[in-house]
Amino acid sequence: MKFCPECGNLLYRMKEGLYCKLCGNYWFKKGGKLKIETGRINIEKDKNTSNDLNNEPKIKILNKTQLSKKINYLHFFPYEQFRESQENIIKQIEESARSKKIVLLVAPNGTGKTVIALSSLLPVAIENNLKIIYLCRTHSQNTRVIKELIKISRFINMNDIKGAKINGLSIRGRNEMCLNKTLLSLKLNPKESMAVCRDLRKNRNCSHFLNLLKKRDEFDKPVLIAPDLFEKPIDAEDLINFCATHKLCPYFLSKFLLEEMRVVICNYNWIFNPSIRETFLKFIGREIDKCILVIDECHNIIDVATDVNSERITPYSLRICLKDLEMYQSPVLMLSFVNILYDHLNKKKDILKTEEKAIVPDIFLEKIYKKLGFADLNEFENFIKALHEFSIAIHEEKLANGEISRDFVGALAEFWLKWIKNYSLENYFFCYNVQKIKERKTIVLEIVALDPREIAVPVLKNCHSCLNLSGTVNPYVFNHLMGLHESGKSYKGIIADSPFKKQNIKAIITEGVDTKRENRTPLMYKKIINKINEVLYCTPANVGIFCASYKILKGLLDNNLEVITEKNKRKLFVEEPGLSASENAFLVNDFKSMASNRENGAVLLGVCGGRNSEGEDYPGDYMNSVIIAGFPYHLPTPRVNAKIEYYDKVFNKQGWNFAYLYPAVQRANQASGRPIRKIVDKGAIVFMDSRFKDKYKWISEWIRNELEIIPDKDDAIIQHLYPFWNSS
Ligand code: SF4
Repeated sequence: MKFCPECGNLLYRMKEGLYCKLCGNYWFKKGGKLKIETGRINIEKDKNTSNDLNNEPKIKILNKTQLSKKINYLHFFPYEQFRESQENIIKQIEESARSKKIVLLVAPNGTGKTVIALSSLLPVAIENNLKIIYLCRTHSQNTRVIKELIKISRFINMNDIKGAKINGLSIRGRNEMCLNKTLLSLKLNPKESMAVCRDLRKNRNCSHFLNLLKKRDEFDKPVLIAPDLFEKPIDAEDLINFCATHKLCPYFLSKFLLEEMRVVICNYNWIFNPSIRETFLKFIGREIDKCILVIDECHNIIDVATDVNSERITPYSLRICLKDLEMYQSPVLMLSFVNILYDHLNKKKDILKTEEKAIVPDIFLEKIYKKLGFADLNEFENFIKALHEFSIAIHEEKLANGEISRDFVGALAEFWLKWIKNYSLENYFFCYNVQKIKERKTIVLEIVALDPREIAVPVLKNCHSCLNLSGTVNPYVFNHLMGLHESGKSYKGIIADSPFKKQNIKAIITEGVDTKRENRTPLMYKKIINKINEVLYCTPANVGIFCASYKILKGLLDNNLEVITEKNKRKLFVEEPGLSASENAFLVNDFKSMASNRENGAVLLGVCGGRNSEGEDYPGDYMNSVIIAGFPYHLPTPRVNAKIEYYDKVFNKQGWNFAYLYPAVQRANQASGRPIRKIVDKGAIVFMDSRFKDKYKWISEWIRNELEIIPDKDDAIIQHLYPFWNSS
């Protein structure tokens, strides 16, 4: 393995030589030493994919007075200049973290949220010997944090700042790091993988793990296994590559390294899933009160906190339970129990349409235990506990036989223990959920947690301090749903100014169209398509259309959207439900590749709340204009109604706003920001539903400040957009 002599990052072998992904240098071996052949090779960087929001800023050199000061943000902010209001925000966050506050920073892309977070929190962490746990949603967000940390680390080295040395590691889940073929072939969920991995290790059946233990015994500290790599910030991908070469387990190597890392970058679940958090903190070697949390894209955490607290069972999982119970000769009553559930779910699947159906949990429970012949709930609970014990016995026997499999019986018992514990609580909802996936009907029995505070408040209460980052979150809703005021900590809200130039953003709401259920007629779709035509006519290249739902998307296609895209010489790319991640990646890459064609370009037709309107960025010409076609309200399913009812009770009649309106606007806000990712981007944002006019206060502030209402007249959109795209 070779490392970049300039920045220390791992080098990749390419046709042209060894390539550093971080600084873009190609290196060649000359006289036994790595040298740049012809200085920095000028690889023409794609202006749309440059990592930095601005052009790469220069790293600054501190003067003696700055160096002699007590450690503060200036010792960690690596760039020559602060962007507008950046320094002020950093100071506020540093001060708040010292006072153990919860901070919410709402700032659009382009503000430099990552460097703000790191340079303000690192001095506090170092001074108080704390860890920074940086929680992100995606791998690319993790990598972005590591890249910023590498810049900070170089800056510290160049300035020789004593006591400020930092390292950091981004980690992933077991399924994404594991190199064991047996485990990978089983395609398990994270909980099941944990059990299978444990069995493989117990039986000494994982060579990667055994190699790692041997390696660890050779060195005093795990970082010494590869100090060049681990004494600096390192991304999970580089750690996995290192382990693949040396046949080590990346998952456990990352865990062994955690204790020595100042900054750990990971998915929300590592902290917000209580069962994962416990072991994670053990590896980190700190209690949560010694950790500063950073929650990136914190609007996601509301759903994460309820998802980790919800449970489900399916006929498939029951079938496997039956197999295990038969094979290990369980008591007859256990078999009857699973058979009753299995038959019941299949019957319901046939009766119900594709819908969600609420269950009255106590009546359901009573029916089941009476059918099994129990006199009361206590007897049933004891029976479930016995089932749980039986699952442990099955598992141990399987293990002794060298078998590796999932523990479905244990999961079933846990599901029912949760039902028994929570059936009388208002903050849980119980239902059947019938869906059609690839023309096949499926059913699940679900326990749905409604209140994010149950998970969020203990985390916020116990951590040292917490910085929440988002470009779109509504502070009022976030405060309530996360229970910030119940955490016992003071709260500091910071709303950053828009970093974008006024002349680079055009934001409009069009009158005369909407996607209300009763208005979804061919006439309305045609009217929407005519307005889309005007946007396409004015926009230089690529356009994104994110619909309120797949039904609206289909409505546009059924009413000949394609004719309009063809007329405007735009290739149409349509996001379909159920596309695999790689199929979708091809689709998006093909769409983006049309950006260079400023004569024609392309149209990406997707949905709000989908992976292309939230997880994907379209800077530069990848998307010049974005259209939000319809107000993306969720269907008023029983689950949504239960949430509204519950929130009405606990949040002073705010149910509709918090459970129905806010998630819809959040989806629209996320989609509308897709084309504006960098400070130099220029983009048009079109809210194509007149209902946005009444709800404009919920739209992200940086967009709201530019909003104009366009009357329902022919060519009215052209009159606004044409000059925007054609002025110099
Ligand atoms: S020890 Fe590591 S490589 Fe082995 S199964 Fe577990 S996660 Fe996979």
